[in-house]
Amino acid sequence: MTRETPANRRVLVAKPRGYCAGVDRAVEAVEKALEQYGAPIYVRKQIVHNTHVVKTLEERGAVFVEETDEVPEGAIVVFSAHGVSPAVHEQAAGRNLRTIDATCPLVTKVHNEAKRFAAKDYDILLIGHEGHEEVEGTAGEAPAHVKLVDGLDAVADVDVRDPRRVVWLSQTTLSVDETTETVTRLRERFPNLIDPPSDDICYATQNRQVAVKEIAAEAELVIVVGSTNSSNSKRLVEVALDAGADASYLVDDASHIQDSWLEGVTTVGVTSGASVPESLVDGVLAYLAARGYGDVREVESVRESVRFALPHELRRELRAPA
Ligand code: SF4
Repeated sequence: MTRETPANRRVLVAKPRGYCAGVDRAVEAVEKALEQYGAPIYVRKQIVHNTHVVKTLEERGAVFVEETDEVPEGAIVVFSAHGVSPAVHEQAAGRNLRTIDATCPLVTKVHNEAKRFAAKDYDILLIGHEGHEEVEGTAGEAPAHVKLVDGLDAVADVDVRDPRRVVWLSQTTLSVDETTETVTRLRERFPNLIDPPSDDICYATQNRQVAVKEIAAEAELVIVVGSTNSSNSKRLVEVALDAGADASYLVDDASHIQDSWLEGVTTVGVTSGASVPESLVDGVLAYLAARGYGDVREVESVRESVRFALPHELRRELRAPA
């Protein structure tokens, strides 16, 4: 059966979307380092989880490596927004590397919480995704104290030394609703479980989830622009589906959209993860406009004004006279 192409086709674009303050700062740190010192500038891991951003910086002279032992002695290396463990700082120091730490200040805040509770000999239940760089960095602050809780099903298997001395922390880019559920389950097992002093899921993750919920309630299809290794982008797909969209897909850019997704769809929602440049959203809107979805409305849920200063190593250099 052929489904009719609906009239009144429209697009709802979530706001806020795209770059958060931590991503903006990390990308700018690499750009400024390239301007200040010239290419090559080494970057450990993807500076942010977006293939287009990485490719653009590569074209300008950034060299992405997996570990610091791939960086020539004495060279400059930038640490990504996701943060690194103290062991990585030590490895870099051992090779006389000049480091620029672009860890998002909101990730550093979670590192500091881990150190503080470990110093008080608490077991730290870190809710997050196994293998994610941010989780590895945070866990590395207190490896003897951190127990990873990856999803609801993992709650039953958590072991602690003393159930009266337990705190939970989390990755910054999780689903707010799912994390709340995980904490509820953890508290059923450990009634004395302590909450972190403030939210670990960052403002940008939370705001993008609030915004996508609003458009998903009115859209049959929600397109999320983001890379497949971007945790916060993947969560936006899940949140859109939970909020009522019939379908939601993660695309790196407009070339990944399939025309069949639009069959019978009147309202398309569009948003993007915290590491996605706006030009990629523009490409998606152009693709949709070419297929009759030219009526575009931005739906603003939360106003954002957060900005972070550049990493201090760069600020110091940029202030110094040439
Ligand atoms: Fe920082 Fe949140 Fe952006 Fe991650 S998503 S870089 S924690 S502001």
